[in-house]
Amino acid sequence: MGLTVENAILDGETVGLRCVDGTIAALGPHVAAEPGDQTIEAAGAPLVSPLVNGHTHAAMTLFRGFGGDLPLMRWLQEVVWPVEAKLEPDDVYWGVRLACAEMIRTGTTRFWDMYWHPGATARAVSDAWLRATIGGPLFDADGKTAAMQEKALENLAELGEFGSGIESALAPHAIYTVSEGLLRWTAELAAERDIAVQIHLSETEQEVSDCLDQHSLRPAVYLDRLGMLTERTVLAHGVWLDRAELELIAERGCTVVANPVANMKLAVGGVLPYPAAREAGVAVGLGTDGPGSNDSLDLFSDLKTFALSQRHATGDPTVLPAEEAWRVATGAAAPRLMNGEVQRVDPLAGGQSVAPGGARPGGLHAGAPADFLLLRSSSPELSLGDLHSDLVYAASGSIVDTTVVAGRVLMRGGEVPGVEEIVGRAVERSRRLGIG
Ligand SMILES: [Zn+2]
Repeated sequence: MGLTVENAILDGETVGLRCVDGTIAALGPHVAAEPGDQTIEAAGAPLVSPLVNGHTHAAMTLFRGFGGDLPLMRWLQEVVWPVEAKLEPDDVYWGVRLACAEMIRTGTTRFWDMYWHPGATARAVSDAWLRATIGGPLFDADGKTAAMQEKALENLAELGEFGSGIESALAPHAIYTVSEGLLRWTAELAAERDIAVQIHLSETEQEVSDCLDQHSLRPAVYLDRLGMLTERTVLAHGVWLDRAELELIAERGCTVVANPVANMKLAVGGVLPYPAAREAGVAVGLGTDGPGSNDSLDLFSDLKTFALSQRHATGDPTVLPAEEAWRVATGAAAPRLMNGEVQRVDPLAGGQSVAPGGARPGGLHAGAPADFLLLRSSSPELSLGDLHSDLVYAASGSIVDTTVVAGRVLMRGGEVPGVEEIVGRAVERSRRLGIG
């Protein structure tokens, strides 16, 4: 017994898609339901890959709309840090459930998360039937390195108990909040266990000048000296990376995640230099950053901003074709974000990811995870013109009608079951923390 979608449109062709045991078993013009299948009549709805949010702090939905007009340091000191000191696992759980409801509604089915109580995040993601790579943040600016290492090992043990939808990560916060010793320890542990590493890098110009003052090295070169740049590493922001750093990052096989909306909201003065990253052969993904500093988790909004900001920054409207922007947002240009398997992006193949055996990972084909979206066939935004151009520039997350992960229907007709309770519980938790 499986799930079969009939009469969907893929690349201009009417197709059927059949899922069995969480995987796409068949996809093509003649695929039809088998006896006992759950069936979705797509009635001409476009079938597309879901979006991948490469960097967020999902539980920060609890902070959404509080102190958003303050400068960064006042926002952190007056709003975020005093509340984070009181956070309990259930606060994080309901904050993440709220985030997941929004992601399901707007077509994101996988995300990379860095936040306190990562076990509560994993529980929420599992209960929402989404997929995530999760790491508890590492900080030792207070000098308590040994305690942080112990906490990191505890977090990994807890995250390891979840199913295949949850991937464990180490998440040192940034080079200016984590000591050289703890970064080196992180790199060694990640290599030993073959797990993902996520870190903020080169978000502000200050970070670069401080790194040059303290280490006489630019941030990416400094991280590389500590063994931190590998195929397992995902770098968030990268606004101030120079060409030599991008070439080093490409050579090491790291992924960089652009967060253009958060960069603009916090007025950091720039965005990831995408054309240089592409030229160097860097795998690039797209992220929202936390909903406290974006504030939306609708990645369609970040996709449009990503494309616009690159055109604006370069003065070149041809710099990022819509189809390429869509590939970045769906993780197709950065396979490490999609499925947790270490794969290289071959720049000679036009940024196409190359999996062992030559098959393309993820995407919509038989054998891939049964994760996909059906868009509203009647939506005015998609009714005319090129689909990719419409998705990048005209659409918002509201054009998502149906969200499916591992063959399980999480939303149909734009309604996420149980959302009222989730909103109610998140509001309750936010009030408990004194911010709601
Ligand atoms: Zn962040």
